[in-house]
Amino acid sequence: MPTRRLTLLGGAISVMSGFSCPCHSKENLSGCSISIQAARRYLTGDSSTSSPLGSVVTRSGNSDFDFAAAQTLSKLTDLFGVLPGFLYFKEDSKNAFATNGRLMNATDGTILFGRDLLFDILAAAEGPDAIFSGICAHEFAHILQFKKGLDLNKGQATAKRGELHADFLAGYFAGVRKSERPSFPAAVIAVAHGNFGDFDFNHPQHHGTPAERSEAVVQGFQFASSRRTTAEEAFHIGVNYVMNLR
Ligand SMILES: [Zn+2]
Repeated sequence: MPTRRLTLLGGAISVMSGFSCPCHSKENLSGCSISIQAARRYLTGDSSTSSPLGSVVTRSGNSDFDFAAAQTLSKLTDLFGVLPGFLYFKEDSKNAFATNGRLMNATDGTILFGRDLLFDILAAAEGPDAIFSGICAHEFAHILQFKKGLDLNKGQATAKRGELHADFLAGYFAGVRKSERPSFPAAVIAVAHGNFGDFDFNHPQHHGTPAERSEAVVQGFQFASSRRTTAEEAFHIGVNYVMNLR
C-alpha cells in the first residue's frame, strides 16, 4: 500500500520486486562508491591500473531509451554541476556504482550502470525512465560528494550516511523534474530506493532500511517541490538531514 508520504509525490504506485542493490563487494570504498581499480575490474575483468579499458559499452542497445537516457544525464549534469563518464557493465549482481576515477574523457569520475539492473528497470510496469533517472541521480550525488571531498561515512560502521545523502539528492532531483513536468512519476523513485533498502545493520555496506531510503527520497523531494531550494542548498540540507539521523 502506498503511504501518505509517498502519495505526496503523486501518481499511482505499484511496488516493484526483484531489485537488489547489495553493493557488498570487498573492493567497494563505501556503499556504491568504488575505487578506479574496482571499476576497471568490473569493466574488463582486470583491476590493473595500467590495463587498457578495451571496448566499453556506452549504449543500452535500445536507441529510444538511449536518447532519453542522454537527456536525463544532461539534466543531471546541469542540476548538480558535475560531468561523470557513464558506462554499462555486466555485473555479478544487479547494481550501479560511482568512482572518482576518470575512465572516459569526462571531468568528474565515472558511473557504472549494470546491464542486468537496466533490463529489470526497463521491464518495470510503471515509470522505467523515472526509476533509471532516480538511480542515476543517486550516483551523480556520489560524484558530487567526491568532487566536494565529502565523506559522510568516515568513522562510521556502515555506508548508511553517504547512501541516504545520495537518496536525499535523488529525491531532490525527482522534485525538480516534477516541478518541470507535473506528470513525472516521482513516486516510483521513492519506491524503487525503498526496495533497495536492507536490514544488514552491522554490515559495512548497509545502505539504510527500506523505510529510511524511501523517507530520504521524500525529504529531498519536498525541498525541491515546495521550497525552491537550489542544488547547492539541497546538498547541505541533505548533509544535515543524515547527520541528525540515529
Ligand atoms: Zn550509493
